[in-house]
Amino acid sequence: MSEAKTPTINFKQKAMELLPEGASFDACLTCGLCSSGCPASGLENMDPRKFIRMAMLGMDEELSTTPWVWTCTQCKRCQHVCPMNIDISQLVFLARGNWPKDKKPSGIVRSCELTRSTDSTSAMGLQPDDFVFVVNDVLEEVRETQPQFKDMVAPIDKKGAHFFVNQNSREPMSEPDEMVPLWKIFHLVGADWTYSSKGWAAENFCMFSGDEAAWYEVIKTRVDATNELGCAVWLNTECGHSYYTMWNAINRFGMEANFKIESLVTYYAQWIREGKLPVNSDWNTKNIKFTVQDPCQIVRKAYGDSIADDLRFVTKKLVGEENFIDMQPNRSANYCCGGGGGFLQAGMTDQRRAYGKRKFDQIMATQADYVLTPCHNCHSQMEDIGHFYGGQYQVVHFWTLICLSLGILGENERTYLGPDLANLGL
Ligand code: SF4
Ligand code: SF4
Repeated sequence: MSEAKTPTINFKQKAMELLPEGASFDACLTCGLCSSGCPASGLENMDPRKFIRMAMLGMDEELSTTPWVWTCTQCKRCQHVCPMNIDISQLVFLARGNWPKDKKPSGIVRSCELTRSTDSTSAMGLQPDDFVFVVNDVLEEVRETQPQFKDMVAPIDKKGAHFFVNQNSREPMSEPDEMVPLWKIFHLVGADWTYSSKGWAAENFCMFSGDEAAWYEVIKTRVDATNELGCAVWLNTECGHSYYTMWNAINRFGMEANFKIESLVTYYAQWIREGKLPVNSDWNTKNIKFTVQDPCQIVRKAYGDSIADDLRFVTKKLVGEENFIDMQPNRSANYCCGGGGGFLQAGMTDQRRAYGKRKFDQIMATQADYVLTPCHNCHSQMEDIGHFYGGQYQVVHFWTLICLSLGILGENERTYLGPDLANLGL
């Protein structure tokens, strides 16, 4: 076991550097809004207001070593409610980066290392050739077994395609049939899209490890791959942090990206409005209830409420307005579920579930049968806390429900549906 000592950060100085001009950490009102709305408050005997006060008091050694920084998901809800606009998550990022590598949670470090180990940039270490094989294999099977999709394509390295589509490694690695509903949607709307053998994967835990150089390196591979193919849009599929790490990094590092970065959610809404995705809620004759989880990484931290509105537009079209029940609070004020920030990989299961209790209570208060979310980490965390705390709800991707509504969801594509929907006969 290494005896590497954690260097001490001067938090007050760092905090001052991060503040907007004219603002002052000394102006913290100690109002406690940050702490009362933070699901990590109380974990490891810390909360965001305490963190700021300790920084002002110069308690740098305590702050440099507190494991609380691995329980803060950097969701920025504290900043959202703070009257002084204080961004505690930036201090947490600095603190994480300051930890010696061998003292950081090994799951986050390992995911970052795997991401850097291949041209795929896959946090599960899936090689480019294996990704290409899985895609082609699954595509061939669908074309053979679902005649309606005998002409469907899943291009790889197609130069000049409009969309450069990324994929969370979880699908090709462990649930390849979950890629198919996405392909069907592209097929239906006539999208010109491609995967890339390089930089196809979406995850980036290097940011969560606080390793800025590694974060940059991973994003550079993806930016270069998109530029090389000449795609107009880097299209993020249903994964929150992968959007944020790309979007934020391109601005942060001043990278030359000759393309737009978009979330698939905005296209779901656009294609429905244009009539290209003729979804409806006629199937929901039993009035099955749904709620929506707003991923912090694409709502509060990136697009803001506009994408939250798109999420609700799509959901209401899919399930019927009367069958949608919003969580409270919601949109940019929504609580983080506790799956982000690398928490799922950090090995701090008790703390993560304690964090997630607030989300569990939010979900239960809606009495919804299903939670829809366009984020893999939200998906995993809400499933886990549902099982742990005894909830009966299911968590489902948008692509599943879109294809269900259109009557084109294959038998192998129903993993996340409960028996009520899996056996609906659609
Ligand atoms: S919300 Fe802002 S002003 Fe209020 S205690 Fe927290 S950091 Fe200070
Ligand atoms: S970023 Fe989120 S988890 Fe971290 S202190 Fe702020 S509200 Fe709490």
